[in-house]
Amino acid sequence: MGLTDIQHSIAAAEEKWDCTGRTQLIAVSKVQPDDRVAAVLDQGHRCFGENKVQEAAGKWPAFRDKYGAIDLHLIGPLQTNKARQAFELFDVIHTLDRPKLANTFARLADEMGKCPDLTVQVNTGREPQKAGVLPEDLDDFIEQCQSLDLPVKGLMCIPPIDEEASLHFALLNKMAEHHGLEWRSMGMSADFEVAISLGATHVRVGSAIFGDRVPA
Ligand SMILES: *Cc1c(COP(=O)(O)O)cnc(C)c1O
Repeated sequence: MGLTDIQHSIAAAEEKWDCTGRTQLIAVSKVQPDDRVAAVLDQGHRCFGENKVQEAAGKWPAFRDKYGAIDLHLIGPLQTNKARQAFELFDVIHTLDRPKLANTFARLADEMGKCPDLTVQVNTGREPQKAGVLPEDLDDFIEQCQSLDLPVKGLMCIPPIDEEASLHFALLNKMAEHHGLEWRSMGMSADFEVAISLGATHVRVGSAIFGDRVPA
């Protein structure tokens, strides 16, 4: 495995499902040592995902200085008090998941004159410990985001570990379609090809690119 293998697998899946060029590969670099991240940057890849604001703030400014523009995606839960820092660092935030955060985003967008592109995280598996809007609350939440003029581009999900991911991907795809949203952020190392077959526009792949995560 590695970047090139994953790029080839994505291209093959896109060809099979007749959606060539639709998938953006987010290389999930959380907890990976800098030399592994630099190796992927050296290969020319410029789209990365992190799940913690603090960790991203510690590593990406230096990489941006060295490598130039990098498309950075926040894919982990966001505390309201870190939203400002997230706005400064990230191009896309995948984890908009509650009214309070939507209000904070709207206020920051107003104040800073910019807002990252957003996806709403949906808790498709209704897991109590997991972030995300419950499917039955999605209509109201999207409406709130639209009334706040937030740039919501799509939906994101993390299926339960012990369930068939394809059911969740299909559900997310349907919900995005229902709301006329283009982006579907779904699929990780183990199931990105399935996600592509069900409409993914953004796949979040970590260990299959970088190797197993080394505990910090
Ligand atoms: C860590 C993480 C990934 C990547 O997981 P891999 O199995 O290493 O590909 C994808 N999405 C989210 C939200 C993550 O936290």
